[in-house]
Amino acid sequence: MNRSMGDSHRRFLQTMMSNGIIDNIQARALHQHCCEVHSGHYIPDKLDEFIDVINAQLQPMFMNIRKAMSEEDGLQYYALVNLTETDITRMSSDYADNELELFRKAMDLIVDSENGTASSTDILNCADTLQTKKLRKKEAELVLNKFVQDKWLNEKHGEYTLSTRCITEMDQYIRTMYRDLVKICHVCHNIALQSQMCENPGCGIKMHLPCVARYFKGRSDPHCPACSDFWPHEIPEFHRRQSQASQSQFSSAKENTAPAPSTSSSRRSRR
Ligand SMILES: [Zn+2]
Ligand SMILES: [Zn+2]
Repeated sequence: MNRSMGDSHRRFLQTMMSNGIIDNIQARALHQHCCEVHSGHYIPDKLDEFIDVINAQLQPMFMNIRKAMSEEDGLQYYALVNLTETDITRMSSDYADNELELFRKAMDLIVDSENGTASSTDILNCADTLQTKKLRKKEAELVLNKFVQDKWLNEKHGEYTLSTRCITEMDQYIRTMYRDLVKICHVCHNIALQSQMCENPGCGIKMHLPCVARYFKGRSDPHCPACSDFWPHEIPEFHRRQSQASQSQFSSAKENTAPAPSTSSSRRSRR
């Protein structure tokens, strides 16, 4: 089997580089699109093999396209991970020092919280205690918006959570930095922030909400998988949603439109 990168792989990688993260449905559409545009061999259901070829080339550059599950909805994502900068310095080219300090504070609040969220009020209250340079409330609000736009944080009704991109790219940093606070999901073994916890003080395992839903599906009498105590929380339900992006196009995963020397000769305009 040919393991070298073709134009279709390069195009896929360029889009990953400009987006940082895309969901499973977008990734499948992008895979098809890249193969068709570059008259490559498109085999549905071979996305992971296609990505393996890219990952083999990324390895010497300490980068990796990695699968990750969203804590929020359980959807699968693909994130481009930089393996040399796994902490917040990863963001330092895009943000000022005091903005990064605000991000650290937000992360502290989120990781230290019971359900993996921090309110905008609590985060904004940190803005005038920053060591590097205080931020006015209005400025801090703009920075928070930028964190959301750049897919480092998610926001819903004034509550902030760490995004799938953030948890995936900073996995090692979070595990080291918050060793005593952060727990690992009993089901999928990834960092569990938005989750449910066993109330047995001798147990206290955590499970992501989508993992809880999958684990207890069809069981009327849920018990902790670790200690067998009754699981006292409401079992969340997740309905299989099609991506918000349209089915066949990856409209929200904007393609990198910058001309790239390696593909420009064979680039065709999109219909
Ligand atoms: Zn999990
Ligand atoms: Zn338990």
